[in-house]
Amino acid sequence: MSVSWKRWLAKKAARNAVMATGWATRNLRSGGNGHSAPEVRVLTYHGFGEATRDPYYVRPDVFEDHLRYIAEHDLAVSLDDVMAFVRGERLLKDGSVLVTMDDGLLSVAEHAAPLMKRYGVPGVAYITTALVGEDYTAQGNPERYLTWDEVEALPASGLTVGSHAHTHRSLGEMPLAEAREEGERSKELLDQHMDAPVESFAYPFGMRPDETPETARALTETGYTSVFIAQHGAIVQGADPARLPRIKVEGGELSLTFPLICQGAMDVWKVVDDTLWRLQRPPTDQA
Ligand SMILES: [Zn+2]
Repeated sequence: MSVSWKRWLAKKAARNAVMATGWATRNLRSGGNGHSAPEVRVLTYHGFGEATRDPYYVRPDVFEDHLRYIAEHDLAVSLDDVMAFVRGERLLKDGSVLVTMDDGLLSVAEHAAPLMKRYGVPGVAYITTALVGEDYTAQGNPERYLTWDEVEALPASGLTVGSHAHTHRSLGEMPLAEAREEGERSKELLDQHMDAPVESFAYPFGMRPDETPETARALTETGYTSVFIAQHGAIVQGADPARLPRIKVEGGELSLTFPLICQGAMDVWKVVDDTLWRLQRPPTDQA
């Protein structure tokens, strides 16, 4: 979804300002002595490719820069690593990063998976099961969704498959029974297609109105052992596994901002994002 130049520039300026303050604050907090509790971050991507002023698309060469940075600094961790860290069973290096990708778009298999395999960076692809195999390119989507064959092939590249609900709707804004079905139906389908049971869930949209303590409980009861929101923040040991924060990585940003994002400069973006999220829903996110 392209946005207007005015909004794009305003948002980039806001992100840069937040990054600068976030970075300064974090430096002050830790004092650079490394004595603060280790924090890990989960990054959210969507599609990969050229898409003018579409924050949902990161260029493959830029994504490769990100992976190179993660690999060179030995920051790559898997979903299992993060969850063992959350449970207090494993210590992870401060600043470790888990790469996740939402929606199950073709470019995840076409561009991201081969690069992640090459750099040895594990990750999670969150699939919206009702959209598997769908193609809305005629309606203006930049690309089609992955087919089941393509989803099934993702683990060969080191990717874990998770659920991004059955349809791409806000679980917090529907009756609880329906929200429960979203998690159940999606898990049922994914479990049929994947070798290992699918135990991770990422909320569609994932902002405040999209998740509640009740939806979190329903998802946990369905068998999801990790549930991710889209609100920014770092993950520390003992964090609530049914409400784990993630940090959005957007297209059209300078490569030098990526290390700052990994080091927590965008943790405070949540405040700004709360006011912007409604404007960002991609056209594919049907009602
Ligand atoms: Zn999504």
